[in-house]
Amino acid sequence: MTAPHRTDILLIGGGVAAATAARTLREAGFDGSVALITRELDAPYHRPPGSKEVLRGVQAADAALVLPAEWYAEHDVDLRTRTSVMSLDPAARTVKLQTKDELAYDRALLATGAMVRRLNVDGSGLRGIHYLRSLRNADALRKDLDAVGGVSGGRVVLIGGSYIGCEVAASLASLGVACTVLMQESEPLERTFGAEIGRWVRQRLEDGGVTVHGGVEVEAFLPAARADAEERVGAVGLVGGETIAADLVVCGVGAQPDVMLGKRAGLDLGESGGVRCDDRLRTSAAGIWAAGDICEYDSVVHGGPIRVEHEEVAIQQGIHVARQWLGDERAYDAVPYFFSDLADWVAIESVGPARRWDRTIVEGSLDGDAFAAWFVEGRHVRGYASFNGAGDIDRATALIQAGEPVDVDALVAS
Ligand SMILES: Cc1cc2nc3c(=O)[nH]c(=O)nc-3n(C[C@H](O)[C@H](O)[C@H](O)COP(=O)(O)OP(=O)(O)OC[C@H]3O[C@@H](n4cnc5c(N)ncnc54)[C@H](O)[C@@H]3O)c2cc1C
Repeated sequence: MTAPHRTDILLIGGGVAAATAARTLREAGFDGSVALITRELDAPYHRPPGSKEVLRGVQAADAALVLPAEWYAEHDVDLRTRTSVMSLDPAARTVKLQTKDELAYDRALLATGAMVRRLNVDGSGLRGIHYLRSLRNADALRKDLDAVGGVSGGRVVLIGGSYIGCEVAASLASLGVACTVLMQESEPLERTFGAEIGRWVRQRLEDGGVTVHGGVEVEAFLPAARADAEERVGAVGLVGGETIAADLVVCGVGAQPDVMLGKRAGLDLGESGGVRCDDRLRTSAAGIWAAGDICEYDSVVHGGPIRVEHEEVAIQQGIHVARQWLGDERAYDAVPYFFSDLADWVAIESVGPARRWDRTIVEGSLDGDAFAAWFVEGRHVRGYASFNGAGDIDRATALIQAGEPVDVDALVAS
């Protein structure tokens, strides 16, 4: 039997977490072997433009690459795209690849990200129902829109009032597409920021031409009546009997961590379904760390386990793991940061995330175009969000990081 090939560092997954770990190692002068294995067809790229600039056609997909495609070869990183890691043996420190190759590693980063949650209702197999995770999904959506009448002809229904639904609705409506958002909650982004701010977001979407229906439940996707389009979606049926015409549907109903590999390898999972890690992002298996959307870590900031699906968190965690391998033993203590853009109508930045709060303090006015909001529990700042550049996110980050009780009534006045 021949010995498996060997790498000092194995990065599993082709998202920003794995790519930034590779870059951090090489920038620090690490000269051991590094392999990055991903089942994606492309080198690691940023996903956020898929619901924003790339979807609107104002940015090419290539511009979303985390690192230029040639960077990996130039820095002696063994990038293998179109390759799934099929199994992971933590005791032997080996993986089996789809190519049947076996690879031994010294230390591994599991950064397999998340997968979209599917909506399983009648008609979910009809053509024209889209999910958005990769940039290729964004491209497929635009092509399908062209096939049903283009920006001025196609009617798009978005399922879900969270980020993906709101961002896609804003992106497409800004091009002139007739968009309708359907959601269980009353207001868009309500689950993240509460109903009051949700109403402000709804107004921005409606001002941009988006129709918003809250408090509704999708029962089925109905086929188009046209004889030549039997297999294609034509409407969304709601519980209660109402139907909403749709030439194309985009479902943004959440994501779930892709822990298939980690689970089969026997790694501990946490309550959120992610791979359970300590405060240094080490999994339950020696030699394996996790980062990004799959990582449920002991947060020193939040005083317990948390898993966050934000791009900047994946980036910072990839950097953090690489730095540990280089000898920095500190706990991961960054305050999670998130951004979102609804076309060029609304730019959101937030820190926290606030999982519980009993008071929202608005800085500025909800009657205007820009404001910020503090999410406070008792005397503690749990989260903060800036809309259209208002407020001071650095100050809020510092207060959340410190975790000390504050004079809540002085937050805005000072
Ligand atoms: C459309 C869209 C818009 C977004 N917008 C924002 C935003 O505005 N702001 C924000 O903060 N965040 C946003 N996000 C979330 C952000 O993109 C994610 O948090 C981030 O991509 C997570 O990075 P990751 O490296 O953990 O995982 P991922 O980017 O999911 O990468 C994981 C990779 O691992 C690969 N993989 C999985 N299993 C295997 C295996 N067994 N073998 C080989 N490869 C495997 C996957 O194919 C994938 O390429 C958005 C996400 C999407 C989809």
